[in-house]
Amino acid sequence: MPIDFPIYSPIQRILHPLFTDHKVEVFIKRDDMIHPFISGNKWRKLKLHIEKIKVLSIKTLVTFGGAWSNHLLATAAAGAQFQIATHAFVRGEEINNPVLALCKLFGMQLHFVDRSAYKDKKALFNANFDESNALFIDEGGRSEEGAVGCESIIEELEDTFTDIFVAAGTGTTAAGILKALNTKGLNSTLHCIPVLKGGDFIKQDIQDWGIDIDNLTLHTEYHFGGYAKTNPELLQFIRDFVAHTGIMIEPTYTGKMMYALFDHIKTGKIQAESKILAIHTGGLTGFLGMYEKFDNLASVNTLTKTIK
Ligand SMILES: *Cc1c(COP(=O)(O)O)cnc(C)c1O
Repeated sequence: MPIDFPIYSPIQRILHPLFTDHKVEVFIKRDDMIHPFISGNKWRKLKLHIEKIKVLSIKTLVTFGGAWSNHLLATAAAGAQFQIATHAFVRGEEINNPVLALCKLFGMQLHFVDRSAYKDKKALFNANFDESNALFIDEGGRSEEGAVGCESIIEELEDTFTDIFVAAGTGTTAAGILKALNTKGLNSTLHCIPVLKGGDFIKQDIQDWGIDIDNLTLHTEYHFGGYAKTNPELLQFIRDFVAHTGIMIEPTYTGKMMYALFDHIKTGKIQAESKILAIHTGGLTGFLGMYEKFDNLASVNTLTKTIK
């Protein structure tokens, strides 16, 4: 059953002296504009699951995440939108924060579980739910259905690009983009930026889903110490980028992706005349968890210093 949820994800050009100097054009696909809370790639990853739920007349969706998970919030908001009950197993001790408060506002029921119990997600699901009336969605929306949903990122493009940059957690979004590039016979290089340490597994996962990785370049050196880790240079870059462009990015995902994009241009790894597309995968809530870190940054605009 097709679901009625029109989305808006325009492509916008970003101007910057660095781009002019290196004779490249940079655009950004604003998946962050899809919905304030069912943000970016999280909507694309959920879409097929929600269609499946409607077809099977299942009433409940069950998923997993950490206390700051964009996926939990997206699932909660989508559940409210499509009248599906949502449950989440949250890793760690019971706490409250802006993201979990929003999840509850959208009607999600939270179940806090310790780290060892959290590891066996299927066991948690089976002990508390029944497959006949509840659908399991893995942490971060990781799934083949999720990857299929992300193919639309490329299907929507009217232009072609030499290079595409995307942040990766599970790699589901990158998998869908790659699949669609292959299907369309496009030769764009997909630059995938894992935000966690040891992101090499993404290559294997994508291959395991039967997707050809010829156009994939994995850049495992932009994790800044690991998942949700930052340093002053990254934070400063983010603040300068946001102040310079009016486009919100955050430290967990899109900040690292955009840093990698600027770094590639700055160090001449991208040829002149290239036309680059950054995928804005959303994720305002990453900022809410880290806003205090921005407090101690120097107050001057250092955009040219940090990224030129
Ligand atoms: C979840 C998330 C990602 C990671 O997507 P994967 O499909 O898991 O690789 C990237 N960016 C943002 C903003 C996210 O919230």
